[in-house]
Parts: sequence; structure tokens; C-alpha cells
Amino acid sequence: MPKDSPTTTDGPTLRITRSARRQKTVSARLVEGGAVLEILAPAAMTDAALAPIIDNLRARVLRHAEAAKTADDEALARRARELNRLYFNNRLRWAEIRYVTNQQHRYGSCTPATQTIRISHRMAAVPAWVRDYVIVHELAHLLEANHGARFWKLVNRYPKTERARGYLIALGLEGDEGESGDLDRE
Ligand SMILES: [Zn+2]
Repeated sequence: MPKDSPTTTDGPTLRITRSARRQKTVSARLVEGGAVLEILAPAAMTDAALAPIIDNLRARVLRHAEAAKTADDEALARRARELNRLYFNNRLRWAEIRYVTNQQHRYGSCTPATQTIRISHRMAAVPAWVRDYVIVHELAHLLEANHGARFWKLVNRYPKTERARGYLIALGLEGDEGESGDLDRE
């Protein structure tokens, strides 16, 4: 059983470390500055059983690493302040706005109780005018928890709202939350 199995695909080199202490779980992490993907696996697991798990973990780890590189929280916070000035007369206050990687199926969330806004890292990769809509949408939730008429009146101050919603529908990210009436919360 090989301890080191160099990968043939692009990306970091694979290093598999088997441990008798591990019973079932397989974990992966990038080490050596991202050059090596270290896999920790149970000693008893066969290479054949391990292969699909590694593929899965590799995709996830690389996706997160890529997102972390492109998602700039400071730029996001700066843009939120600017949109607050442009569309909310600078009257909104929040505790935190930042990108997160655990929102694959929604573009963001706002928790008014803690004044916390989280934006899916996927929004770091959409056009700025779409991202602006998402930020305005979540900012508006600081004033209006539900997706009622008053909420949309606030959001529609942003002139590209309809176009941006169309863009997000095409990505499969707009629609769900609009019907739930349950914010964009996890
Ligand atoms: Zn919403």
C-alpha cells in the first residue's frame, strides 16, 4: 500500500497518510503553502474505497481555497458602506458583513437580531452590479425582515434590481428565498 501517491491531475500533490487510530473518517487539508493536499485516512480503508472520497474532498478543499483567495471582505464592507450612502441615506448600521463559503444555494443572509450579513463567496465572482443588488437586498433586511411590499420598495431604489434578479434566477439562486418569507437565512 503506497504511502505517497502522486496525483496525475493539475493542482497540489496528493499525500495520503494512513492511521490506525482513524476508524472511518477521511479528512483533507492543504499543507506546504497549498502545494500538497494531505489526506488522512483509516489504515483499513482500501485505495479503491478511498479514491472517490479523495476526489470529493479535493474538489471541496480547492473550491474553498479559491473562494478565500478571491473573496475580499474589506472590499465587500467598503462597497456596503457606499451602497448605504447611495440608497439608504447612510442610516443603516450593521455589526459585520463578510463572505462565507457555506452558502451554496443562496446568495446571502441577514440576521437582524445580530446585525450580521453573510454573502455567499459565489457572489465574489458575479458582475459588480449583481453583487451590488445582493448587498442592497441584505442591507434592506436590516430594516424589513420579510419580503413584503415595504422591503421591495427599499430594494428597488437600486435601479438594476430586476436585471440582477434575472441574473440570479439563471444561476438558480433567486426564487427559493422569495417564497419562503424566511429571510435568506440558513
Ligand atoms: Zn431576502
